[in-house]
Amino acid sequence: METSTDGAAGPSTPAAVPPASLSPSRAGDFMQCPLLYRFRVIDRLPEKPSEAATRGTLVHAVLERLFDAPAAERTASRARSLVPGQWDRLRESRPEVVELFADDPGGERLARWLGEAEHLVERWFTLEDPTRLEPAERELFVEAELESGLKLRGIIDRVDVASTGEVRIVDYKTGKAPRPEYAEGALFQMKFYALVVWRLKKVVPRRLQLVYLGSGDVLTYDPVLADLERVERKLLALWEAILSATETGDWRPRPTKLCGWCDHQAVCPEFGGTPPPYPLSVRSADGREAGSARD
Ligand code: SF4
Repeated sequence: METSTDGAAGPSTPAAVPPASLSPSRAGDFMQCPLLYRFRVIDRLPEKPSEAATRGTLVHAVLERLFDAPAAERTASRARSLVPGQWDRLRESRPEVVELFADDPGGERLARWLGEAEHLVERWFTLEDPTRLEPAERELFVEAELESGLKLRGIIDRVDVASTGEVRIVDYKTGKAPRPEYAEGALFQMKFYALVVWRLKKVVPRRLQLVYLGSGDVLTYDPVLADLERVERKLLALWEAILSATETGDWRPRPTKLCGWCDHQAVCPEFGGTPPPYPLSVRSADGREAGSARD
């Protein structure tokens, strides 16, 4: 899982700033729809919490905390028992998630939702054995700067280091594994992290591992240096495109079926909406500063 590390929307973060770094999520946003990227990173428009994303955050917290216990005590029942307490902590740190169940005074939907989170946690034990794992890192924030000045950042769910020094990067997904033809897209995030680790530690991770709790699948990939060089070239090209759109203010909507999950249809031209005035200075085609739409 990757949480916001580079300016994704939050309910109380209105200040507009030019993009300064790239994370896998925001790179994915730009590839999906440049206008979505603008709304999230530059305008920082608020987004409603979703049940699925919040459940993902909760399950990640439980899996992370389970490793606080001695190896022999990392059982499924212990993991399940952590769910209510981690839900309490999440509500404290992100009070907006309470909205999700505002229309559920009897608590039935919340109980069902918590049960689903427990089910996902339990399924993890069919895929990995935490009594035999000693992660080197959990929820590791990483940041590396490329020669071009581009900063890459993100949060890695788990890093395992073997006695031989070999590194495995692990990411938990609470959804289902993609069909094989879409596996490359899923691995993009992992190769992004592998590139950052390589840049930071001069070590190419031995294995990238995606653990899909929704479907009970594990997807692995053993990268080589050429993979990381390729992803670096891709990210540099992406960053050039982002900088160009930032300067010109030309953020094109790219409608797909994923629009159904977009919180910003009301301000999207594809759905009859009008984006808010562009809050940054723009350059005209001849390179001169043309001011911002708010000037
Ligand atoms: S509704 Fe679709 S096209 Fe419009 S901003 Fe969202 S993702 Fe992009």
